[in-house]
Amino acid sequence: MDLPNISTYLRPDDIQNITHWGEDWTWLAGGTWLFSEPQPHLTVLVDIQSWGWSEIEVKQDNLIIGATCPLIKLLEYPWLKEWTAGSGFKTAINALAASFKIVNLATVGGNICLALSVGTLAPLMIALDAKYEIWNLQGESRQVAARDFQLGAKITILQPGEILRRVLIPVDNLKWQINYQRFSIAATDPALAIVVTTKNNQQIRCVIGASVPAPMLLGEAENIETAENKFIAALDKENFLDNAKAGANYRRELTKILIKRSLSAL
Ligand SMILES: Cc1cc2nc3c(=O)[nH]c(=O)nc-3n(C[C@H](O)[C@H](O)[C@H](O)COP(=O)(O)OP(=O)(O)OC[C@H]3O[C@@H](n4cnc5c(N)ncnc54)[C@H](O)[C@@H]3O)c2cc1C
Repeated sequence: MDLPNISTYLRPDDIQNITHWGEDWTWLAGGTWLFSEPQPHLTVLVDIQSWGWSEIEVKQDNLIIGATCPLIKLLEYPWLKEWTAGSGFKTAINALAASFKIVNLATVGGNICLALSVGTLAPLMIALDAKYEIWNLQGESRQVAARDFQLGAKITILQPGEILRRVLIPVDNLKWQINYQRFSIAATDPALAIVVTTKNNQQIRCVIGASVPAPMLLGEAENIETAENKFIAALDKENFLDNAKAGANYRRELTKILIKRSLSAL
């Protein structure tokens, strides 16, 4: 895809070499989305692929995933047996496996920051209570909970010039049981609804995505017996997407079914 308005391509060695930012600038990671549409509002691409932010490592009780880690690396990662939540990553990424190119080139940061309603990683990150580390051009960093990052379809809390540096998931949370449910009409279609549930000794968590503009933590329950009623009741307060792909009522009912399936699979 040609990007007709792009006049400048920057490939700095480091983020410190970027001293200012324009509203028509964008970070370029795997490029799988940026090069899939004309992007008439953009004139400058800042390529971050050479910054070596593709680590997957354990540090200070967190599994750290660098923003430019390609999705395929998570599929190939040797998840420890006790990290039961590793299966959630495999399901989430395999959901995109219809496109070999996307899984090989697209990055974790690109998937999260693009913030599509159908985003495959964000519901998983919220379910696992992940944190995102965000850097700005002044050399400052902050961490936000994954559940607070995405505000709507393609809307995040990122300010101009801010960048997602890495994702942090507490290693203990990787030991949670997890179940990832996704429904689409055809396997290659975007999801109409996603439900991710997790279970640990204290609680059961439920996150919904794809059926609503931004993924959200629907709730927490103390035990599996009360979880289903609690999560399904919480759906009444949500505004479901209503478009040509599927109506709001359909998405709500679908989400109910996926919640039931997910909880019974836990
Ligand atoms: C036809 C098609 C269908 C798709 N369907 C799905 C789907 O069903 N589910 C799904 O989850 N995804 C879907 N995607 C999205 C796909 O997963 C994305 O293209 C990919 O995740 C984006 O990753 P990337 O590294 O290529 O990002 P890029 O294309 O390079 O960038 C995407 C956006 O993220 C920003 N960005 C990238 N990295 C960072 C960072 N570290 N910090 C801040 N901003 C950043 C860029 O500035 C840009 O705005 C689809 C894409 C295409 C083209």
